Amino acid sequence: MTLADRLVIAIDGPSGSGKSSTSREVARRLGIGYLDTGAMYRAVAVAFLDSGVAVDDTAGIIEATRSADIQVSLDPDQRWVRVNGRDVTEEIREPRTSENVSAVSTIPECRADLVERQRALMDSAPDGVVAEGRDITTVVYPDADLRILLTASPEARLRRRRGDLDPEVTEDELRDQVLRRDEDDSKLVEFQTAAEGVTLLDTSDMGFEQVVQTIIDMARDAGRADA
Ligand code: C5P
Repeated sequence: MTLADRLVIAIDGPSGSGKSSTSREVARRLGIGYLDTGAMYRAVAVAFLDSGVAVDDTAGIIEATRSADIQVSLDPDQRWVRVNGRDVTEEIREPRTSENVSAVSTIPECRADLVERQRALMDSAPDGVVAEGRDITTVVYPDADLRILLTASPEARLRRRRGDLDPEVTEDELRDQVLRRDEDDSKLVEFQTAAEGVTLLDTSDMGFEQVVQTIIDMARDAGRADA
């Protein structure tokens, strides 16, 4: 495969929009890489909490971000994340991390640092990559071959996130993880309305397979003949 055959797909959306599972499956079927950029913000949250930095210590969080050694798998079949040499694949999904991740993502210096690393990771994937997050279509990779904003109604998103989580997570924790986080996240990045050239895909009434197939069809139109 030549460099010209690389395919880069950028997918943004709020939590519970189904972007992670959809992006991973699209990457698998196209035989390309998968980058979960949210996992990188989460890994930094684990790093700063572990090092005892307080949630309101902006300088400390910036320093924890810049010094964090973050390694993420680009293989859609093998999901792992390491920070400062420690495997945090499970820990980044825990409520403690979800509750504190906005402390990282609302600091512009932290975003700038992670955006650089995300671009480099995307460029390192030999056959291309599906990258998902909040600002991939607009900031990280506006030149992607295909740019999609996945949305879903708040009800559909709460329902889907509920399905992903431990049954012990309470209704309040669930709402915090989905709706409160969206509100915080919207302060620095616009991911609720599609930017110019970004296709809006409302998945509220679509099944998983239908969403995956729609994106694969769009990828074919975007130029990958064997998609
Ligand atoms: O996608 P996920 O919910 O795992 O992302 C965790 C958090 O990371 C989000 O709530 C958001 O604060 C932040 N994030 C971001 N920009 C991205 C990806 C994630 O700000 N591209």
